[in-house]
Amino acid sequence: MPDAPRPGLKCPVCHSDMPGPAAEWPSLPFCSPRCKVIDLGRWLGEKYRLPGSGKPEPAGPDHGEEQGS
Ligand SMILES: [Zn+2]
Repeated sequence: MPDAPRPGLKCPVCHSDMPGPAAEWPSLPFCSPRCKVIDLGRWLGEKYRLPGSGKPEPAGPDHGEEQGS
């Protein structure tokens, strides 16, 4: 059987492995507050806009500032 007792966590921003229990990663799903900010910045910058849509989409759900200090 495959030796994969649990799915490995991976930071969606920098794709680094995040070994250990989730409790050790307070910035989940990101590996660090830095990656969290990077992801937030991407959304704010709309760099993740779907290709093909000619116009910028409205802001959408206003999550506002998620700046956990
Ligand atoms: Zn990361």
